[in-house]
Amino acid sequence: MSIVPVNLLGLELDALVALCEELGEKRFRAVQLFRWVHQRGVSDFGQMTDLAKSFRAKLAERAYVATAAITHQHESRDGTIKWLFDVGGGDAIEAVFIPEEGRNTLCVSSQAGCAVGCRFCFTGHQGFSRNLSSAEIVGQLWYAEHFLRKRLGGAERVISNVVFMGMGEPLQNYRNLVPALRILLDDHGYGLSRRRVTVSTSGVVPMIDRLAQDCPVALAVSLHAPDDTLRDYLVPLNRKHPIDELLRSCIQYLQYAPRDFLTFEYCMLDGVNDLPQQARALVELVRAYGMQGLRCKFNLIPFNPFPGSGLIRSTDENIRAFAQILADAGIVTTVRKTRGDDIEAACGQLAGSVQDHTHVAERVKQQRAMAPERSARALPTIEHEALT
Ligand code: SAH
Ligand code: SF4
Repeated sequence: MSIVPVNLLGLELDALVALCEELGEKRFRAVQLFRWVHQRGVSDFGQMTDLAKSFRAKLAERAYVATAAITHQHESRDGTIKWLFDVGGGDAIEAVFIPEEGRNTLCVSSQAGCAVGCRFCFTGHQGFSRNLSSAEIVGQLWYAEHFLRKRLGGAERVISNVVFMGMGEPLQNYRNLVPALRILLDDHGYGLSRRRVTVSTSGVVPMIDRLAQDCPVALAVSLHAPDDTLRDYLVPLNRKHPIDELLRSCIQYLQYAPRDFLTFEYCMLDGVNDLPQQARALVELVRAYGMQGLRCKFNLIPFNPFPGSGLIRSTDENIRAFAQILADAGIVTTVRKTRGDDIEAACGQLAGSVQDHTHVAERVKQQRAMAPERSARALPTIEHEALT
């Protein structure tokens, strides 16, 4: 029986050690190999000159190093670069490089599509296609890092931060996420600090608890609403894991987290979740859970509109007023700058086309058509206020 070759981009160091031992090689050879792949960006075993020829020949039979095919690269005037990867089966995913003063961030995808189906998210509207493998997740960083290093002509590391804010819900792809995180953090891999790797989640509570044990990194939680009625509507996963359960798990997570606070993301939707009384309700919420140990900051993200969402971005004035209410209550609040607008690289616009195998988009449409009373109940006064 022939063995299917394995993509080394997805093997954490311990798994690579096990593979090398199977091939009769010691641990330090695995470390050398790991460094060739991740630190030097080499995919051809023939170039790994300090490994024995016989070992390289065996490797060539059992393993390979490759990313998904890159179909597009878009560069923005502000330096943002977006890559589109063809992951097969008609699915595409995206990674975005965001250079900033003092740090260079890569935003990566964890799934083709997403099953959570948030109202304001283009990926959510496309439905879920499949989980990315660990190799497909790490491959985004591998490609971007070595592409940029070559372009800048140096051997220095370029990407200092990775955020899981591209397509997909990382905590619904936990099995492949954790090995990928370990490769990012490994000193022989990318050597990123835990504080500089951020997993963003819509609130998959059981997996937040597991991440705290398995691989605690910085955590961002997509809150988007101060109460369950509105959050049920915007982030359907809230019906399974409501705000109280979510915030309790955040408090637990903080005991293991590399930072002593977490970030709440809040997508600013005109007339839906951006009213002053909703900012005040958030302050109350943060105060109540603050007494139990919740430490957080807020990142307000102006909504990136897409056709058919039926939602509108909050005005700058309303965003400022909302941020001020939080800030006045002593909550550190930032407003996300929109980057790469000209190449559609901003949050929620990661538009790689995904086959909707679960027909989520269709179901959302049907639900809306069939249950008007549900949305009416979810957004009673708010819809009214949006009109006045
Ligand atoms: N699934 C994870 C991570 C990917 S989404 C999560 O939901 O957290 C990353 C961030 O982009 C989340 O905070 C999400 O709410 C936000 N986002 C999604 N669509 C958006 C849009 N159209 N405009 C602004 N932010 C959006
Ligand atoms: Fe999925 Fe995150 Fe989009 Fe919600 S916001 S649909 S969880 S990718």
